[in-house]
Amino acid sequence: MRLQYKTVVITGGANGIGAVAAKLFGKNGAQIAIVDFDKKAGEAKAQQLHELGIEAAFFQADVSDSENVKEMATKVIEQFGKVDILINNAGITKDAMMLKLEVDDFKRVIDVNLTGVFNCTQAFLPTMLSQGKGKIINTSSIAGTGGNIGQTNYAAAKAGVIGMTRTWAKEFGRQGINVNAVAPGFIETDMIDTIPEKILGQIKMMTPYTRLGTPEDVANAYLFLASDESDFINGTVLEVDGGMLK
Ligand code: NAD
Repeated sequence: MRLQYKTVVITGGANGIGAVAAKLFGKNGAQIAIVDFDKKAGEAKAQQLHELGIEAAFFQADVSDSENVKEMATKVIEQFGKVDILINNAGITKDAMMLKLEVDDFKRVIDVNLTGVFNCTQAFLPTMLSQGKGKIINTSSIAGTGGNIGQTNYAAAKAGVIGMTRTWAKEFGRQGINVNAVAPGFIETDMIDTIPEKILGQIKMMTPYTRLGTPEDVANAYLFLASDESDFINGTVLEVDGGMLK
């Protein structure tokens, strides 16, 4: 029970890595606010957690919409009374080679993956500051640390997430907030569904463990950074990629 009595907000918690993290955090004693724009999956996830005896609620929001996020944050704080941990996990891809990438797809990926992290952090930070303690974990990607062919928009957003992480670590560390990022490699979720099998095979061969990552691999890294065990870790980027050769 590494998160007993903690309130955790997980964006993108209805599916994929976020949903696995919600369950793992709940099993470790936390109360969970699942934030997602996928209402059907979000409500179902909250119900599943209830059935496991975990206190959880679903809050619908589009993280890219600052007004929507402010309303959601007010509801979360009304319901749970506090927020100890924010996992900025919601994300999308809209891949295309640079010369074919539509500006709308560039902007949408930045809006969700970068501005979304900004919006949610701005909405929950005042509560954490008033508590004098808090943990923020942002989801970057190895595309953000090393770039990736066909992901100009995504790599830019995820590199920006690292910049914000390090800036906030410096801005808020003295006030008891630590801010870190996780940079997953290729993880088996819907997000990588469109990658052809042949390419996935090559990715596995570039990974010393010769496998893709699982949502659990990333959720475990979130759990470490959310727990008191990481109290002296601030502004770091934890790569969860099985040591993939870059
Ligand atoms: P996923 O597609 O399975 O889940 C993403 C979740 O985010 C979904 O529930 C979706 O509804 C939600 N979401 C998307 N846009 C949203 C918005 N505007 N507002 C609210 N919710 C929104 O993807 P995943 O693989 O679980 O990805 C989770 C995070 O991990 C993302 O930030 C992603 O970029 C990152 N990541 C994933 C991989 C991978 O290989 N799967 C690799 C590196 C980083």
